[in-house]
Amino acid sequence: MELFLATRNEGKIREIRELLKGGEISITSLRDYPDAPEVVENGETYRDNAFKKARFFTRWTGKLTLADDSGLEVDYLKGRPGVFSARYAGDGGDDRENNRRLLRELEGIPREKRGAMFRCVLALVTPWGDEEVVEGECRGQIGLEERGERGFGYDPIFIIPRYGKTVAELSIGEKNRLSHRGKALRKLKKILKRYIGA
Ligand code: IMP
Repeated sequence: MELFLATRNEGKIREIRELLKGGEISITSLRDYPDAPEVVENGETYRDNAFKKARFFTRWTGKLTLADDSGLEVDYLKGRPGVFSARYAGDGGDDRENNRRLLRELEGIPREKRGAMFRCVLALVTPWGDEEVVEGECRGQIGLEERGERGFGYDPIFIIPRYGKTVAELSIGEKNRLSHRGKALRKLKKILKRYIGA
C-alpha cells in the first residue's frame, strides 16, 4: 500500500520514512513530482494547513495522503512564530535566516526565559474521504547560538535541556524518540494499521 507525503521538506520526509520503515508501506512524496502545484498555506492553524495540503493532494494523486504542518512557539514571543515559522525571516523560507532572526529577537534574554515548544499536526486523508488527525509537541529552550549539523529548520537553536544538546546534535533515532513529529507519528502508526495493516 502506498502512502503519499504532501511535502517537499527533506527533513520531514527522512523522519517520517525512518519511523514508518519496516512495514508494508511504500512512501512517495512531492519530491517525486517536481511539477506538482503549490498549495498556499494561509490557514490560521496548523490543523487548517495540514488538512488543506492533505485534501488537495489526495485528490491530485488519488492516493492515501499524509500532510505535516508544524512550527515553533517561543514563550517570550507569546507563541510566535507559530504557523508562520517557515516564513519568519521572509517568503524564501530560509532556515539559516529564520534562526538568525530568532536569535536576534532573543538577544539579551536569559536562559530561564527562553522556553519554547515545537508542535506538529499530521493530517491523513484517504481517497474515499476518511480523515484523521494526530498531534505531538516537544518542549525545550532556544539556545544562544547555532549548534549541530543534523536535522533541519530550527533544530540547531532548539535545546533539549535534559540532554544539554540541540536537536541538530541528535541522531535521527534520538530526535524521533522525543520530537513533536515522532510523538505524532507513533499515534499515526496505530491509525495507519487500520487502513493499510502497516
Ligand atoms: P511547514 O512546512 O509549513 O510545516 O513549516 C514548518 C516550519 O517549522 C519550518 O520552517 C521548519 O523549519 C519548522 N519546523 C517544523 N518542524 C521542525 C523540526 O522538527 N525541527 C526544526 N524546525 C522545524
